[in-house]
Amino acid sequence: MPLTDLPRIERLDLATVELPADHPAADLGRSVPVHGFLIDHPDGPILVDTGVGFGNALIDELYRPSRAELRLVLAQLGVELDDVVAVVNSHLHFDHCGQNPALFGGAAAFYSQAAELQAVEADRFYTDAGWALAPAAQRRALHGDEELADGVTILATPGHTAGHQSVLVEAAGRRVVIGAQVVWHGDELATEVASRANVDPIPELQSAAVDSIRRLKSLHPEVVHLSHCPAYVPPGHDGV
Ligand SMILES: [Zn+2]
Repeated sequence: MPLTDLPRIERLDLATVELPADHPAADLGRSVPVHGFLIDHPDGPILVDTGVGFGNALIDELYRPSRAELRLVLAQLGVELDDVVAVVNSHLHFDHCGQNPALFGGAAAFYSQAAELQAVEADRFYTDAGWALAPAAQRRALHGDEELADGVTILATPGHTAGHQSVLVEAAGRRVVIGAQVVWHGDELATEVASRANVDPIPELQSAAVDSIRRLKSLHPEVVHLSHCPAYVPPGHDGV
């Protein structure tokens, strides 16, 4: 259905985690919020990221998460789990895909970059694969950008990980970006300097991270929503 106005975008408070002292971002603050996002699209609700999951003793010990149950968070917004038509995982680290299983066996399709799915398969410490990997029938592996619904486009934005992706929502001349963890903090969007704390320790990803920052800014969004800090509002905008 063509969009006549920008759909409602809700930031979800899905968890707070305590970073271990040796985490690369620990110097920037140990207690970190974990946000997901809901795009209230007329074709059906689209979720971006699902927070921290349940039942992984190692993650519970390392990160001491306090979690909100996705089902309840959505219910407060008038959305049932079964209503969700698509889940975009910005990447597949444990705090972005943890409650994917709440939607396994249903109709929702799960969108990840193929590079991200490969990272899960290649390294058993990359994430909790039981959270990250949707049943094959629901899994969609992307190779770059993909239009998901009218006005909603997934953008490949490598940097934090090789398969990181963001979401552009646009309608009626307005644009909002869900940048997720394209940066750790909005300051990086202002300065176009990618924090080493946020970039996988692979040299080529450092320049990819800067390219992704510049790409998102070049779209001139009114706001860039982020996973672990307040949204970035470019100069001249009020935010939404
Ligand atoms: Zn991550």
